[in-house]
Amino acid sequence: MYRELLELNGKVAVVTGGSRGIGLAVVSALREFGAHVVIADLLDEQGEAAAASFGGGVEYVHLDVTDSRSVEEMFADVASRHGGVDILVTSAGIANHQPSLELERDAWDRVLAVNATGTFWCAREAARHMRDGGGSIVAIGSMSGEIANAPQRQAAYNASKGAVHLAVKSLAIEFAEQGIRVNAVAPGYVGTELTKEGVPEDWWDDWVRRTPIGRLGRPEEIASLVAFLASDAASYMTGSIVLIDGGYAAW
Ligand code: NDP
Repeated sequence: MYRELLELNGKVAVVTGGSRGIGLAVVSALREFGAHVVIADLLDEQGEAAAASFGGGVEYVHLDVTDSRSVEEMFADVASRHGGVDILVTSAGIANHQPSLELERDAWDRVLAVNATGTFWCAREAARHMRDGGGSIVAIGSMSGEIANAPQRQAAYNASKGAVHLAVKSLAIEFAEQGIRVNAVAPGYVGTELTKEGVPEDWWDDWVRRTPIGRLGRPEEIASLVAFLASDAASYMTGSIVLIDGGYAAW
């Protein structure tokens, strides 16, 4: 009985930011449990190669989650080709590590637009196309939506992920009537391009030192939690923000 609850056969899943990193690991996990997966990302070459590597059951579409018209069109297209949408995972995200006193208005806006507004718009459009009986939305939030993880400078990122977590709680209440569950996972530091780009090397040492488990997380460790939340095994979970951080925020 429990094994069957995890199965996603016949389900259609959209994973934003699925071309690499945590999103790509989520694509693998959802595919392994039987879902047809649509990767929606800006990274066309990587996304197309990733989709092809599964040998079927995974497709790639170009999407900028900040372009609300494109988001609407993409979900309408996926729903018309596949009869609806069952699962959305929002992994598209960007970070910024500038000191707040140097942060340009454009940089703040971009982080909020991708992480917070992009997540909301995708969740809303997915919900419009979810089949009768409901669906599951899993946002990749962050422990940085719960704590200000000083000494790193990331006011915009923290604010964007805090917004994601509260939007998730709001949407969980609003969409419950339609049988749609909405949850977020809140990872600690995971070794991906996001944690490499524009980050001094000694920050990694600092992150490891502050993590009780003593290492960074791996994308597949986040993906297994996402697959659980996407499945019927989590049928009584909605509005939850699930920390998965090697104990970082437990101090
Ligand atoms: P990656 O940078 O490896 O992956 C993010 C993906 O999202 C990239 O393919 C990126 O493309 C894409 N993307 C960025 N902006 C957009 C956009 N506007 N529209 C569509 N796709 C976009 O990062 P991670 O896998 O590490 O991060 C995935 C999620 O997990 C993010 O939301 C991040 O905030 C969150 N997270 C990550 C943690 C970590 O330590 N790695 C910790 C906690 C949360 P491109 O490269 O072209 O920008």
